[in-house]
Amino acid sequence: MALMFPTPLPDESIYSLVCRYLRLTFPVKYRASKVLFGHEQAMAGPESLGRSLAYLHEQGGKQFWPRLEDMVRATTAYNLYGIFTRKRDQGYLFKTIASYYPGQRHALYQGFYHPDNKVDCLKFCPECIESDTEEFGVAYWHRSHALPFVFCCWKHDCSLIEVNSGKKNFFLPCKHSNENKNNKSVLKTNQQIAKMSYSILKSANPVWMSRELLCYVMKRELNVKYAQSESVAGDLLQAHIEECHSLDILNKLSLRLYFEQGESRPWVVESLNTATLAHIPEQLLIMVELFGSWKSVKKVCKLLNSRSD
Ligand SMILES: [Zn+2]
Repeated sequence: MALMFPTPLPDESIYSLVCRYLRLTFPVKYRASKVLFGHEQAMAGPESLGRSLAYLHEQGGKQFWPRLEDMVRATTAYNLYGIFTRKRDQGYLFKTIASYYPGQRHALYQGFYHPDNKVDCLKFCPECIESDTEEFGVAYWHRSHALPFVFCCWKHDCSLIEVNSGKKNFFLPCKHSNENKNNKSVLKTNQQIAKMSYSILKSANPVWMSRELLCYVMKRELNVKYAQSESVAGDLLQAHIEECHSLDILNKLSLRLYFEQGESRPWVVESLNTATLAHIPEQLLIMVELFGSWKSVKKVCKLLNSRSD
């Protein structure tokens, strides 16, 4: 049976597409998830990265994205996670996101520290709910809101509201009353991270973009900016970032500022030399400070890449 896939909306996550499909088509959630994902995955959680995406592509996604890769890039966080992954691991990451649900979950648990050990929290922006309903007639889950280190809407600059999802939650957020609308006094750090992440997600990142290249470009810029050795320049940038951003938000981003013994950790230098997904928030902050926008980072990467050809 071919699925009647809902027309994808801007920045909509694959989870949201599945939600809308279920809501439109099946009155019984459990049966629906069984039809979509097969018996084994009937209880699949609401991860925003998608699950068995290859199967969904076959069943109906194809009409909007002829290639599976396009669907993965458009509806999951692959565009962002991919560029922070070593070249040799990118294929594996793509595969786990596209088709291997347990592997993907495992990879993410290892990659991110969360106080509740969860990777599947759902968040929404109260203003997006209203404007989406007005513009598209329906509210939906945005993938840029789903990232674990994003706490504010890139568009409206207001805090995101987290929904305690639970395993079988296929429901969409409904229209929010005014009292739940947040004020806009969110921190600048939150806004910068949200905007940078959103630009990376929606950008058509070239295949040569990788963690190695990004680290190289950031180190190079660090050197140009401070004209010091890598460790001294890293310490200077780190001191600057820690001064400009509140300790609360740095902690919320899971930045490890100290070693267990209480010694200060040189996290700028470390995150430019190590290779795990856990360093993404640190690297986003470094990129914001050194380049300001994803566009500028990409421009430098492109230049260096064309020179190495
Ligand atoms: Zn919003």
